[in-house]
Amino acid sequence: MQVDVHVIGGGLAGSEAAWQLAERGLKVTLVEMKPALLSPAHQAPFLCELVCSNSLRSDEKSTPAGLLKAELRRAGSLVIACADLHRVPAGDALAVDRVGFSREVTARIAMHPNIRILRRVVDELPQGPVIVATGPLTGGALAEEVRAALGGDRLYFYDAIAPIVDAETIDWNHAFRQSRWDSRKVDEGVGLPAGDYVNCPLSRDQYHAFVREIRAGRKISPHGFEEPKYFEGCLPIEVMADRGEDVLAFGPMRPIGLINPKTGSRPFAVVQLRPENRYFTAYNMVGFQTRLAYPEQKRVFRLVPALREAEFLRYGSIHRNSYIDSPRLLGPELELLSRPNVRFAGQITGVEGYIESCAMGLLAAVFLAARQRGTRATAPPATTALGGLYRHVRAPRQPEERFSPTNINFGLLPPADATVRKKDRRAWMTARAERDLVPWLEEVGVRPCVGVPKTERAERAALS
Ligand SMILES: Cc1cc2nc3c(=O)[nH]c(=O)nc-3n(C[C@H](O)[C@H](O)[C@H](O)COP(=O)(O)OP(=O)(O)OC[C@H]3O[C@@H](n4cnc5c(N)ncnc54)[C@H](O)[C@@H]3O)c2cc1C
Repeated sequence: MQVDVHVIGGGLAGSEAAWQLAERGLKVTLVEMKPALLSPAHQAPFLCELVCSNSLRSDEKSTPAGLLKAELRRAGSLVIACADLHRVPAGDALAVDRVGFSREVTARIAMHPNIRILRRVVDELPQGPVIVATGPLTGGALAEEVRAALGGDRLYFYDAIAPIVDAETIDWNHAFRQSRWDSRKVDEGVGLPAGDYVNCPLSRDQYHAFVREIRAGRKISPHGFEEPKYFEGCLPIEVMADRGEDVLAFGPMRPIGLINPKTGSRPFAVVQLRPENRYFTAYNMVGFQTRLAYPEQKRVFRLVPALREAEFLRYGSIHRNSYIDSPRLLGPELELLSRPNVRFAGQITGVEGYIESCAMGLLAAVFLAARQRGTRATAPPATTALGGLYRHVRAPRQPEERFSPTNINFGLLPPADATVRKKDRRAWMTARAERDLVPWLEEVGVRPCVGVPKTERAERAALS
């Protein structure tokens, strides 16, 4: 078979990308290393394996995950169509029979006349157009090859993520805007206008109670294949808290250079928040990377007076995760700027989760298919979930800012009009996204993913 495109990795992103390319008439070779070699998290021979939970999260359109799935469904996603076919009861969530789901994806891909599946480990990037979708556990010779193609140390192997707070849920009676020293010199250094940091002060007693709860809180243990290896400049808060009572107060919670305008004095300690987007609807807890379990993060961080009612758009985490410095390396079509025939898709681009990875597979394929036809596809609108994710991996960052991955959340989208009542904002944003997606779908052309293949025959073909 003539080969127009290689896709490396048959996970959530690679399967979706191969399908979208093939549906657009391109001849695709999908190369998957299973079953010859299994990553520490993969176990099954099928494509599109769900390595942990069998849930693709909420299917309610008013939630970020529900909106993203709704958009993927409308864009003709293979992964979501197969998930819908193998749905198991799980309340509002789209959970699946994981074996049935992966078999279905495998069968459909194997049956596609434009796709050839090769079962082998890829150590070198092939010539010609390629999409690299090798996921969060990319390693071995291919990782070295990718690292060389990126030029320099731009492939990360761990992420250390700090939580993100919904700005609307910050108690502004207990917070104040100020940059350290409040002088231009400092602010030019961080590239933010004066006062853009939000400071959440704590008294001595509040600080000590906070440290006690960080120490006591339940932590997520590393997986067997993860080495808990931390950089000194990026330590988890619980590691700092265990090193000594005052370590956080001299580290990310240091109050130096800050005066609380409400008291006229320096607080004992602060949690600093930095804007996460240009709409100022989401704030990052500076230096708060953590292995605390999600419910514990909510409980402990809400001890900070300004965060008593805080809602978290993303929780902190630290885990093994191969991802590239996308904002600095990728062009508008998710192509490597230094080698435009190479595109990236899935978790390796700096998104987190099954559906987010699938979305990035779909986008990479749409861009590449247009390019192969001699045209260019535009990015999905910023007001859609697909557009929000795309912009997260593309938006320019401050020179000193380390890019960190995200799952889909409403903080990635422009806020609702100020005239919209608070309780109606999510519905309003959902309706806006649904409306704005239409012209983009018309532009890129949607192939509805319908019909059930003769699974048994296809499966035999897929596994042989
Ligand atoms: C331990 C763990 C638990 C997780 N739990 C969840 C969860 O509960 N919910 C959730 O939403 N997300 C979870 N994730 C994240 C989720 O797995 C990813 O978001 C998603 O699978 C990424 O999709 P992908 O296509 O980018 O990569 P993957 O799905 O990992 O697919 C990559 C594929 O590439 C293949 N491959 C890799 N290297 C090569 C090579 N050199 N040659 C050929 N093939 C290769 C792999 O075998 C694999 O099939 C978890 C991740 C891990 C590691």
